Amino acid sequence: MKAWENNIRKVVPYVPGEQPKMEQVIKLNTNENPYPPSLKVKNAQMDLNRLRLYPDPEAKDLVHAIASYHGVEDSQVFVGVGSDDVLAMSFLTFFNSDKPLLFPDITYSFYDVWADLFRIPYETPALDDEFHIVAADYYKANGGVIFPNPNAPTGQLVELSFIEDILEHNQDVIVIVDEAYIDFGGQTALPLLEKYENLLVVRTFSKSRCLAGLRIGYAIGNPSLIKALNDVKYSFNSYTMNYPTIVMGTACMEDEEYFQETVHKVMATREWFGKELTRLGFTFEQSYANFIFAKHKSVPAKEIFEAAKKEHIFVRYFNKPRINDYLRISIGTDDEMKAFVTFLEKYLQ
Ligand code: PMP
Repeated sequence: MKAWENNIRKVVPYVPGEQPKMEQVIKLNTNENPYPPSLKVKNAQMDLNRLRLYPDPEAKDLVHAIASYHGVEDSQVFVGVGSDDVLAMSFLTFFNSDKPLLFPDITYSFYDVWADLFRIPYETPALDDEFHIVAADYYKANGGVIFPNPNAPTGQLVELSFIEDILEHNQDVIVIVDEAYIDFGGQTALPLLEKYENLLVVRTFSKSRCLAGLRIGYAIGNPSLIKALNDVKYSFNSYTMNYPTIVMGTACMEDEEYFQETVHKVMATREWFGKELTRLGFTFEQSYANFIFAKHKSVPAKEIFEAAKKEHIFVRYFNKPRINDYLRISIGTDDEMKAFVTFLEKYLQ
């Protein structure tokens, strides 16, 4: 072993869902939206000569569009390259305590990767047997709290009163609610910002806004948190968001009608597909996200996952303790879900 090898930062990276290369796949493994982006995004006017220049480091147009949409000040919005970027910056900015950061044992599997990367101590209180977050686990001394609502990969939602209880018990640290999937039927924690200046709500364009490929995420919080995030971001890389993304993201926020239409289509498909899953012998808790986390009464999840893949149907399987009996199935179009149901009917016979 060379001496310099001791100085290499060693990390175990996050592994995203597979992006299969073949044509004709049914892709239900990364919670993308099955519908195309709004026509306003496709038709957004761009002056490509502008690519000669650096983009606006503050992404002011996009920040303003997001702030107006949510009825907050521009100074309350931070934008990043997907919510992964926003979350990574938030870990770096807000979680600098010797006390442990707290997040659930079953949750978005990037949290422990960032904690390791930034050398943040953390603890992961276990969800209960029905995969509910236990509020009392978050009453102890800590260096910050983060959880998704709805949680991933379970799809389970907590009420605002639950979030408020966690905030009441954690006024000396930053509490982040990751609302990647909130638009599919949940109630946002944004109204709590009026009362709790230590709350940060993180959102993404990747799911409900059909723009996973563009990479836009944002955080909303009180101006001092947003300033702290921007200070760290400008100490890292000022020009993270490119000009076409700023233009298309801004256009996207202007199409409320299409946004509502696609979100409701996904929710309607989820309800239909849930009934089919029940008919086929699966069990699951009500999902408030664009996926269902389900377990079959007799057939192991891994076998279904592998058999589906042979038929070019991709779902997500986590070979991890407590959840290795489950499949996380993203909600696609009606036709895609019907094809998956047809596969299951044959396979489970
Ligand atoms: N938070 C959660 C809970 C997620 O599941 C995801 C999607 N992988 C993200 C954040 C990140 O999404 P993006 O970077 O595409 O905004």
